[in-house]
Amino acid sequence: MEANSTVVLIFHVVAGDMVKCLVGWRVRKRREWKKAVRVVREVEEECETSVERLRQVVDAMAVEMHAGLASEGGSKLKMLLTHVHNLPNGSERGTYYALDLEGTYFRVLRVHLNGQQSAILEHEVELQTIPQHLLTSTSKDFFDFIASSLKEFVEKEGDDSELSVARRKELGFTFSFPIKQISVCSGILITWTKGFSIVDMVGKDVPACLQEALVRKGLDLRVAALVNDTVGTLALGHYHDADTVAAIVIGTSTNACYLERTDAIIKCQGLLTTSRSMVVNMEWGNFWSSHLPRTSYDIDLNAESPNPNDQGFEKMISGMYLGDIVRRIILKMSLESDILGHISSKFSMPFILSTPMIAAMHEDDSPNLREVERILKDILEVPDVPLKVRKLMMKVCGIVTRRAARLAAAGIVGILKKIGRDGSGGITGGRRSDMKMRRTVVAIEGGLYSNYTLFREYLHEALHEILGEDIAKHVILKVTEDGSGIGTALLAASHSSNNVDRI
Ligand code: ADP
Ligand code: MG
Repeated sequence: MEANSTVVLIFHVVAGDMVKCLVGWRVRKRREWKKAVRVVREVEEECETSVERLRQVVDAMAVEMHAGLASEGGSKLKMLLTHVHNLPNGSERGTYYALDLEGTYFRVLRVHLNGQQSAILEHEVELQTIPQHLLTSTSKDFFDFIASSLKEFVEKEGDDSELSVARRKELGFTFSFPIKQISVCSGILITWTKGFSIVDMVGKDVPACLQEALVRKGLDLRVAALVNDTVGTLALGHYHDADTVAAIVIGTSTNACYLERTDAIIKCQGLLTTSRSMVVNMEWGNFWSSHLPRTSYDIDLNAESPNPNDQGFEKMISGMYLGDIVRRIILKMSLESDILGHISSKFSMPFILSTPMIAAMHEDDSPNLREVERILKDILEVPDVPLKVRKLMMKVCGIVTRRAARLAAAGIVGILKKIGRDGSGGITGGRRSDMKMRRTVVAIEGGLYSNYTLFREYLHEALHEILGEDIAKHVILKVTEDGSGIGTALLAASHSSNNVDRI
């Protein structure tokens, strides 16, 4: 009897302890969960992009554009002159070439134009890698290599139309490095980026160096236009649709350009008398405004970047950075709570989480969020994350992406406002309901926009919210692929020396 009651007593004590333990564990778990949720809630509040706030960003963008056009260094927006006055309009004829030098590879293209705004442009492309040793060689060696490749490409004809025989061969050159443009076909290299260090090129006219190499190789090909990829995108958009007024690139980096009235470019009044309009390269990645919803994660990312205080807008919206903002939030969650178990060393590795990965997590439509689970396990090395926590991770991806897309939309409306295409009276005027809104096309390109469906949807939604349905229905965003190739060949056509009747 006695022994039995002892057993019962022991059982009660043990069971009681277990219950207490379980309750304690549950309380602790709930507390930890709440801490993690608090981190997410704070980010959500700090990333808030109400339509009122977006309209402030719109105004700031338009005002900064004005300031950047008024004087050199007047704004963080450089508002660079491209000297591109003639955008292709579909009437171009003949065969033109393009050289697209983006990074450690380049492409050469040949485009055949029949003068009828060809819906599908017949063209040929060749992709080539630049040998490593040339990245740090001399401008002569570098351009001799490029010129040889071009010569081989041009001589592998295909160019057999009568038009081409009579005309001089012309080339558009997409050069994705910082340059000071002097004319449509000349520009001085300011500095190299992306691993290039051809020291004797800095301060030289880049197309002139290419032209000299082409002469050395005995190739009769004139460099007719030097542009960046955004300008190529605008050209391609305009070729297909004359209502195209601006182009946006949202990929690894981000930029925008648009067609401006020459008399609004105050910083070079008097110099530009030949044409009524010019494409302006905004370099909008460097836009900044106190109205941008900035978090401690953005501040840290900026401080730890190789270019602190530059490219502030880009660091909030482009594909290079979104994954890393999410990683920083996850790190904070893991420091504040134990919902992810241990703190994986991967959380502290910059850029380990890429933007395509956060897109995959965010767009995971499997019932148990298997993709989120896979990325957490394989990339961040946190296995066995409960479903509830996986959902929270997905939410974080959504917050960061939504802010980016909505800010990009505000930037676009800022451009429309500057050129009086947002349905308001421009920078100074209020909203005018009586104004007739013209059909307005914005060419858009880049891996973030074209591959991340929810990013695209958030951007469109914000555009509609800011402009209102009546105005937004006149604004069309058109995906325009391969501006830096085909678009640039089209610019060679519209700036061709064969076009005596233009300007
Ligand atoms: P680049 O900007 O380097 O010229 P792209 O326009 O192709 O090249 O954009 C590539 C960038 O787009 C990637 O760095 C990435 O940030 C983003 N991206 C590509 N695919 C996806 C995807 N599926 N989801 C989200 N972002 C993506
Ligand atoms: Mg690109």
